[in-house]
Amino acid sequence: MTLDDEVLTLFDQIVHRNPAEIEFHQAVLEVLTAIRPALRRDRSLCDAGLLERLCEPERQTMFRVVWTDDRGKAQVNRGFRVGFSSALGPYKGGLRFHRNVTLGVVKFLAFEQIFKNALTGLGLGAGKGGSDFDPAGRSDGEIMRFCQAFMTELHRHIGPCTDIPAGDVGVGGRELGYLFGQYKRITNRFDAGVLTGKGLLIGGSHVRPEATGYGAIYFLESMLEARGEKIEGKRAVVSGSGNVAYYAMEKLQQLGATVVACSDSGGYLHDPAGIRLDLLHELKFVRRRRLSTYVESVAGAAFMPFEKPWDVPCDLVVPSATQNELDGVGAKSLVRNGVVAVVEGANMPCTPDAVQTFRDAGVPVAPGKAANAGGVATSAFEMQQNAARDQWQAVDVDRRLRGTMRTIHDTCLATADDHDLPGDYGAGANIAAFHTVAAAMNALGLI
Ligand code: GLU
Repeated sequence: MTLDDEVLTLFDQIVHRNPAEIEFHQAVLEVLTAIRPALRRDRSLCDAGLLERLCEPERQTMFRVVWTDDRGKAQVNRGFRVGFSSALGPYKGGLRFHRNVTLGVVKFLAFEQIFKNALTGLGLGAGKGGSDFDPAGRSDGEIMRFCQAFMTELHRHIGPCTDIPAGDVGVGGRELGYLFGQYKRITNRFDAGVLTGKGLLIGGSHVRPEATGYGAIYFLESMLEARGEKIEGKRAVVSGSGNVAYYAMEKLQQLGATVVACSDSGGYLHDPAGIRLDLLHELKFVRRRRLSTYVESVAGAAFMPFEKPWDVPCDLVVPSATQNELDGVGAKSLVRNGVVAVVEGANMPCTPDAVQTFRDAGVPVAPGKAANAGGVATSAFEMQQNAARDQWQAVDVDRRLRGTMRTIHDTCLATADDHDLPGDYGAGANIAAFHTVAAAMNALGLI
């Protein structure tokens, strides 16, 4: 069998075994396609069922979460935790609370996490979890009761040396506080290293909230530098307005870019003068309002309901909302308008069509598994602080984050070059991460 046939046969088996998990199929196909140059060079990487093992989660947990809403009505949700790979360390990855969360979504995210975490070089395995619980419009009391009910089951499956969840879409400092509170109550242990993204008073790390967004922009900085360009003076579009998007915008502005658009699930905001982050912070994080309310305070801004921001002319685009949000049509529009770099702040926000469009146009794309690795890298720093019962200063965490992102960038670029794919960050990220995980799996024996 040729290598291509072998890979396709494996992919068919994965689709057959995991029916209807389309995001998972997409993520697996992307990796299997990207690592072919490495497999071609060293066919022994296919030995010992390595690829089959890599694509089969080590464990998958699904559980019922029952909680009571403010009207006293019983609500039933589904909880998930997938431990995909512990070859490099304990399972590590976030929890997502969103109504679209299914097993397929959790598996795609956990699979991506294998490669992302490997790129950090910080000894992290990979997992992901969450629930189809929809936090939108829920009171603080409802959020707390849901988190407590969720942790009542999850606590049996996690631990500082086993599996360390964190936040993701719909799960931030508030939710992690409630989750950690319940874990502590049930286990009778202040085991700070069991969750990351905690508040500063309960074992959290400085710069963890900012880390994913800042990290993505540090990656962008290196990308532009490699092409003799810089962020200063560029116009940027950032999709989303949550944790990743907000801090990406903040770092872009600090480095001299003008952020002209961002979005939420209701549409996008265009402010040609540059988005006012103080106002955005107040609306989204303090008052938990919709993005559309921004235009009530800023005369020159406009809100486009139900639309995505890809028609807004810009030099830099940082899709930071959710998977498959940027398709081929959006990519063509961005290319037409002269975009020079794409950085995935979210996990897999570009469809394969979009990636191909950018590639054909010679526009570099930083894949999420490399560009947004700053979040999980800083989680590893939080674990180190917890283990030492220490708290590092913000400047120290930021310096390490920046250094980590630079190293990941350089690794991706060098690996792509080494495989005669200059500037192909997707290939570089997948191949470099795959080599690391494969070597660890081989060292551990046939398990
Ligand atoms: N959910 C984030 C990610 O996609 C952070 C995971 C973590 O810090 O464990 O990488």
